[in-house]
Amino acid sequence: MSDDKIKVSARAAFTEYMKTRKLRKTPERYAILDKVFDMTDHFFIDALYSSLEADAYHVSRATVYNTMELLIDCGLVRRHQFGNQPAQYEKVAASGIGNHHHLICSQCGKIKEVKDPELIRHINSRRYTTFHTTYFALYVYGVCSRCMRRNRKNNKTNT
Ligand SMILES: [Zn+2]
Ligand SMILES: [Zn+2]
Repeated sequence: MSDDKIKVSARAAFTEYMKTRKLRKTPERYAILDKVFDMTDHFFIDALYSSLEADAYHVSRATVYNTMELLIDCGLVRRHQFGNQPAQYEKVAASGIGNHHHLICSQCGKIKEVKDPELIRHINSRRYTTFHTTYFALYVYGVCSRCMRRNRKNNKTNT
């Protein structure tokens, strides 16, 4: 699906969501949705806020937070909490999030997305009695190759 099509279908889902909940369909909410779908990666709320500001689009922080809560509830955005970092957000494209999982470096905090279709298929195939799975999130913690190299170097200079 093209980026434009993804945006259009996200807007449609959001409109439907607001309609059923009798929420006001304000231009601010759509502007935030569009901005979220322009993001290619995980982002902090501050980055989203500055990006709106950079477009000379002035919305209050409260509106940004509040809209993000709606987008999460609507299933268009997912919030991540990697280790002790502040929350990060990520759009959920129709092509399906949950098609990747996250490797988190405990030293520098870098997040790497990896696709492992075999593993995802396996988890998706699991059925739990008296429970219906909607989605899952898999976080793998460790040390990235850059930190590993740096650690090795530091060990050498220390000895
Ligand atoms: Zn690292
Ligand atoms: Zn991700």
